[in-house]
Amino acid sequence: MHLTEDEEQVLEVLKKFADTEVKPLAMEIDRSKSVPQKIIDRMNELGLFASYIPQEYGGAGLSFTFLVRAIEIMSSACASTALVLDGAETLFAEPIMMFGSEDLKKRYLPQVASGAVGGLAITEPGAGSDAASIKTRAEKKGNKYVINGTKTFITNGRISKFFVFDAVTDPSKGYKGITTFVIDADTEGFHISRDIDKMGIRGSSTVELVFEDAEVPEANVIGKEGEGFKVIMETLDAGRVGIAAQAVGIAQSAIDEAIAYARDRKQFGKAITDFEGIQFMIADMSTQLEAARLLTYAAADAWETKKDSVRLSAMAKLFASDMAMKVTVDALQLLGGYGFTTDFSAERHVRDAKITQIYEGTNQIQKVIIAREVLKNL
Ligand SMILES: Cc1cc2nc3c(=O)[nH]c(=O)nc-3n(C[C@H](O)[C@H](O)[C@H](O)COP(=O)(O)OP(=O)(O)OC[C@H]3O[C@@H](n4cnc5c(N)ncnc54)[C@H](O)[C@@H]3O)c2cc1C
Repeated sequence: MHLTEDEEQVLEVLKKFADTEVKPLAMEIDRSKSVPQKIIDRMNELGLFASYIPQEYGGAGLSFTFLVRAIEIMSSACASTALVLDGAETLFAEPIMMFGSEDLKKRYLPQVASGAVGGLAITEPGAGSDAASIKTRAEKKGNKYVINGTKTFITNGRISKFFVFDAVTDPSKGYKGITTFVIDADTEGFHISRDIDKMGIRGSSTVELVFEDAEVPEANVIGKEGEGFKVIMETLDAGRVGIAAQAVGIAQSAIDEAIAYARDRKQFGKAITDFEGIQFMIADMSTQLEAARLLTYAAADAWETKKDSVRLSAMAKLFASDMAMKVTVDALQLLGGYGFTTDFSAERHVRDAKITQIYEGTNQIQKVIIAREVLKNL
């Protein structure tokens, strides 16, 4: 899907904001392990949180392709800051937009459109790749569900006003006994048990969440009871395109900075970009980046048109994250010893790129999905 003229214009404004207001803070965001609220407020002022929310719920109704491009631009400035937007839109708002009742849409989407952040809580200490093996329990009592369990590695944990999460409503039915809900962060019996320190995307809050007899109204079920696994899987199909865009943004930043450095750096009496060995590295890195970008845009398009999106979103996430890992390591190499220091951002890009191979399904799991999709069509 092509961007409209309006969308192109908004992206230009966004690029300027990302380059001038976010990128200069990225190193400090990494060191201080938090994204300043004033940056989140600025993103909201620019209409970023509203952009993807439908107009009838207070948003601007821009396309998924726009959102993916916005995540890419924000990630090239700061991968942690981009995750605030990515989490709110692709992980929290998207399942409500796709499967939520009119009541849920009216209660939550306008809040996201006006800058309230959300998250998605699926992973548990004993259930990562095997998402159907969750143990968090939701027992129905009257018109409420009582929730008990633990979710871990939850992005946007400290800054989220609400979360989408899944729990077992009928243990006898396997993945068909899973239901997805929305919970407000201030619900009694629901709290953060710890912050998780990490090697990369250090500015992004990652927490463990505990439910102890937390009550959620029946009206907060997303979709139908027993259909929660489907809600989560479809949410991740969209989410993976966001992660692919994040990987592309991180790699772009790493390449831009490495080329700028290499142009200035002189050894053997000339700029190191005059050496063919360096030129070939730049050619390889740029080609890999462009291929990943095009696959990511194709996946965004597929998701929007609902054509072959499971296969393409898994491929985009797999390819773009592997590309980002390789390209950021090569970009660091172009800076020699300086790349290994914390005076430059090259080492942060490597640390930030690593997570894109892990979350929203590890790359091994992406291969399982891709193979299944390819084989089923034979
Ligand atoms: C910073 C961060 C943020 C995150 N944010 C969120 C979030 O917001 N919400 C959320 O719900 N989760 C989140 N996660 C969790 C993330 O999605 C999981 O960590 C991921 O899905 C892998 O699960 P696991 O860590 O339990 O690894 P495991 O599933 O234990 O996997 C360990 C290794 O085994 C491999 N493996 C497992 N099964 C197979 C198989 N069938 N075939 C081949 N290899 C296999 C994996 O690829 C991996 O290499 C986040 C994680 C991190 C680190």
